[in-house]
Amino acid sequence: MRIMKNKYDVIIIGAGPGGLACAEELKNSALSVLLLEKNNTIGPKVCAGGLTRLDAGFNLPKGKSREFKTQHIFVNGKEHNLQLAYPLKTISRTKLGQFQLKKLQGAKNIDIQTNTAVLEIKADRIITQDGIIDFNYLVGADGSNSLVRKYLKLPSSQNMGLYYDLDLLSNKFEWHINTKAWGSAYLWVFPHLDHTNIGFHFNPKLISAASAKKILDQFLRDNNYVFRKENFRSAPLNYNYQGFSFGSVFLVGDAAGLVSKATGEGITMALISGKEIAHKLLNPQYSVTELHNVIKIMQRHTKMIDRFDRHPRLQSTFFWLFLKMMKSQRFQEYFGN
Ligand SMILES: Cc1cc2nc3c(=O)[nH]c(=O)nc-3n(C[C@H](O)[C@H](O)[C@H](O)COP(=O)(O)OP(=O)(O)OC[C@H]3O[C@@H](n4cnc5c(N)ncnc54)[C@H](O)[C@@H]3O)c2cc1C
Repeated sequence: MRIMKNKYDVIIIGAGPGGLACAEELKNSALSVLLLEKNNTIGPKVCAGGLTRLDAGFNLPKGKSREFKTQHIFVNGKEHNLQLAYPLKTISRTKLGQFQLKKLQGAKNIDIQTNTAVLEIKADRIITQDGIIDFNYLVGADGSNSLVRKYLKLPSSQNMGLYYDLDLLSNKFEWHINTKAWGSAYLWVFPHLDHTNIGFHFNPKLISAASAKKILDQFLRDNNYVFRKENFRSAPLNYNYQGFSFGSVFLVGDAAGLVSKATGEGITMALISGKEIAHKLLNPQYSVTELHNVIKIMQRHTKMIDRFDRHPRLQSTFFWLFLKMMKSQRFQEYFGN
């Protein structure tokens, strides 16, 4: 970690996958870059660590993730096995963060400062607990409760995720859907290399956080899972995309609202948007095709869930149809899975 200067070409707020991917693409460029992270350690984040095929362009750490070709989808208690053309993966956020951080080693143009929270944003400067720093460009990669997004006065819409990490080692990648009781919410079982992450993703306007926790606890009890309250976590996910470019200010990942309203997936969108915004900073003419593709997929997910929530009586038919369509590789690509 180096001492901060008082002016940078680019300041990136947040060293999650989005901010780190942005910094990586700016490595050894002519731009001076400051990457700021409020936490002491880079990596840990409330997240289930599931990845779809959208991560294909990223060289993720080998031997640190698990892969699953089959998804087990339980719709109203009935199990459906869905084979995937591209395997789903699970990865530890700490390992992903540390892997991304390592790639920045030796970058002469990048200063990384942890334990530094940005407290306020002005037109051409930020204020941290350590002082004021000027920028030409600001990248908001500061997650679902983004300060940069608030500075831009953009609204947010948030789903919630809550989960337990269990010591148990499991081999089945599961989704549980209960259209009658939960509507568009779902429960997941994501096996990792050294634990299993079991959680619930829901819209807090439709299910209260207290009810969601009851649903999750009940599921764990019904399935005889041993869980401990100290391993419980919860956090919001912002799916309200309103754009990524605002003059000299850019948004990536959750700060940009690039989380799926359907699946809660956001790691890959953060990686892609971070990388694409870096290219845009290096070349303003750069057309962010990959980012536009992922935005389209996110918008499809939002549309699908909004329709689904509007027609509660058709929800089980909808899922039946959805599972049939997901058998086709073309639809898997269209849906982003
Ligand atoms: C319960 C839950 C489960 C999830 N499961 C999955 C999943 O299985 N798969 C998936 O793809 N996605 C999942 N997500 C979503 C995923 O976690 C996010 O989409 C992803 O982390 C977004 O990356 P990011 O870089 O945009 O933001 P983040 O990972 O949130 O990183 C933002 C960083 O900015 C820092 N920061 C914030 N404010 C400041 C400040 N003022 N100053 C300095 N630093 C600051 C934070 O400390 C953080 O390190 C889940 C989310 C939740 C809540």
